[in-house]
Amino acid sequence: MRALCVTVDLDRDVNIPIPGSNAAGSADRGNGTAPRFSSSERGLSLLADLFDELSIKATFFAEAATLRRTDAGKLSGHEVGVHGVDHEDFTLIKGADEKRAILREAVDTVKDAVGKPPGCFRSPYMKADQETIDMLPEFGIRIDSSRHTEMASSLIPKYTDSRVLDIPVPEGRDAGGKKISAYLWPMHESKRGPEDYLRMASVMEEGAFVIATHTWHMVESRERGLMSKDEAERNADNVRKVLEGIMDMDMRPSTMTDVRKELADERRTAPLGGKVIGHRDPVTGKIELFDDNKKKG
Ligand SMILES: [Zn+2]
Repeated sequence: MRALCVTVDLDRDVNIPIPGSNAAGSADRGNGTAPRFSSSERGLSLLADLFDELSIKATFFAEAATLRRTDAGKLSGHEVGVHGVDHEDFTLIKGADEKRAILREAVDTVKDAVGKPPGCFRSPYMKADQETIDMLPEFGIRIDSSRHTEMASSLIPKYTDSRVLDIPVPEGRDAGGKKISAYLWPMHESKRGPEDYLRMASVMEEGAFVIATHTWHMVESRERGLMSKDEAERNADNVRKVLEGIMDMDMRPSTMTDVRKELADERRTAPLGGKVIGHRDPVTGKIELFDDNKKKG
């Protein structure tokens, strides 16, 4: 498998945690930290057009409050997963019941908006606790993308104990030895160029390379505020260069659910160490040995 997972967090503009509140705010541009959604909406339009043009099926992790304000038609043809209701930090939510209530509302909102139950989850701020991950299957969610992983030649996603497939965002070192994550954040802030990400992707021989960004970051910089038309065009051009460059490396654009299916297919057909000794569960990857191979006595 050589998959490129283009993932986009569809959430409130330049979100920031608000102390004492579960709900996130937006960076203060002179009118306080109340959540704003207009950059997110404009960025979604730009990305949807770009993905159309490049024939990319992406995975959007949609925060419920943002999704309710979004024209869901722009997400058609893409996968839509869960990203909380109000961009909650799940590691600060006390008690399983409250986490369940948030996940239930988030899942129902996605279902209502796009007509399909979500199959994947990314925790806001990339901060997920094990309790939250463990409860995802209760909501029909079998994929989590809330973690980072060390960049390597093999990035085959793995199942965790909770029967959730972990499709992490890679991070590694750039040519100068500085830490780099496959979140395009610094590129949107004019601190990195497309070549940094292409160099990073070129390391992978097999697996799923996950690129991540935010809709609002197409038109608004965290540090500089709203982008000028020229800036936004340069920004979009850089995103295009990253995506085209990675596709030129023969990585196939795939949604997270595509990756899970492909993995299950490979497992079903792969020989088990040359000799067929049992049946491998396509979902958990665990091997149920045939009776002959079970330990005697
Ligand atoms: Zn987010």
